[in-house]
Amino acid sequence: MKVLKFGGTSMANADSIRQVGTIIKSDPASRFVVVSAPGKREKADTKVTDLLYACFEKKQKTGACDDALAVVEKRFADIVSDLKIKLDLRGEFDAIRNAINSGASRDYAGSRGEYLSALVCAAFLGLEFIDAALIIKFSSSGKFEAELTNETAAKRLAASKGAVIPGFYGAMPDGSIKTFSRGGSDVTGSIIARAAGVSVYENWTDVDGFMTCDPRIVPDAALIDMLTYKELRELSHMGANILHSDSIFPVRKSDIPIHIRNTFNPGAKGTLIVPTKKYLAGAFFRNTRTVTGIAGRKDFIAIHMEKSMMNSEVGFARKVLSVLEEHNVSIEHMPSGIDTLSVIVDGTAVSDETLASTVSHMGTVCEPDNIEVVRDIALVAVVGHGMNRKKGTAAKVFSALYRAGVNIRMIDQGSSELNIIVGVENKDYETAIKALYEELKEM
Ligand code: ASP
Repeated sequence: MKVLKFGGTSMANADSIRQVGTIIKSDPASRFVVVSAPGKREKADTKVTDLLYACFEKKQKTGACDDALAVVEKRFADIVSDLKIKLDLRGEFDAIRNAINSGASRDYAGSRGEYLSALVCAAFLGLEFIDAALIIKFSSSGKFEAELTNETAAKRLAASKGAVIPGFYGAMPDGSIKTFSRGGSDVTGSIIARAAGVSVYENWTDVDGFMTCDPRIVPDAALIDMLTYKELRELSHMGANILHSDSIFPVRKSDIPIHIRNTFNPGAKGTLIVPTKKYLAGAFFRNTRTVTGIAGRKDFIAIHMEKSMMNSEVGFARKVLSVLEEHNVSIEHMPSGIDTLSVIVDGTAVSDETLASTVSHMGTVCEPDNIEVVRDIALVAVVGHGMNRKKGTAAKVFSALYRAGVNIRMIDQGSSELNIIVGVENKDYETAIKALYEELKEM
């Protein structure tokens, strides 16, 4: 038995939905289908989810979302008529329009793309529709309730012979809609896979799988045929944008592999993401390489602090962390020296005001001799289980960057020896990735 999740490009128009139908029907193990909202039909197009957020903003600005919602209604009407299915969505759109115009939340508006997409897909495939609001549970403060969801969903799914479930959202105890972060339909697929107890979670997207590095920077990057949950987490957190990095948490509880596949190239092997412990115990085999993949992201910010005798000041790091917590700033890395400590934060997740108030508050609470903020830092992660068994990966990383003229601003290696992370300047990011790929591709 399988759960299949189809992303936005797979749901974008009638042709792609027909292709989805062929994939589902060709495999008798297909049981539950999770769908995204229709995504882009071509490069310049707008995703339905973004159109729906625009509806919410339109209502905030002008008091009504009607003309913005008409664009979404047209997108769905075209799909329904092209698919030649009997489905009248006018009542649904009236309800959505009324809800947004009466003050429904941004999450509610954003979630309607998945809701409608699942209605269309269920009608097209002749399968039952199960609303995610009934089985995916959040607390009243908006925290995802993993165990309650698992129990509720398991019961509901056991009573179904096959169903389509919208991705991306669930509901809080009062019934109001709450979404995961962007790309969250991947997480829904994983939740459904765990609750249904399937043997594999197939995640169908528009690329063949994970690549050893970003093919926009290195066109000859190779496909990774197998990744462990841990490697996936490192690579997707660091920018390998194929699967939501939180997707492993639900399936990890039951050791269900995730298989990344391409809707538009179903013959391709894809990338199989397998439980780390089982892989390390030899239950899965791949041609072992030292380095599995390289990924990275730009726009981090480093806050460097220096203070004489910092190493003997008990509680210094705690003070730093408490200031960050008070300002709700999450940290990516915290490299330290004897008298220095730096925190690296995601520059796309903190506003200038928050950063300024956090740094000034740190100055008062921690009393460093010097505090400096460095922007435009890119982080590059070299990831692979092979690294802790083999000497010389770090040496290769640093010498490749040296030869490419890249100045390393920070170094971090997780205790699991699964990754080496280097911080470089944004302007050196592409050069760093290319140099590392060349150096490590044979390893
Ligand atoms: N439609 C949502 C987004 O665009 C969720 C998803 O596709 O996974 O982020």
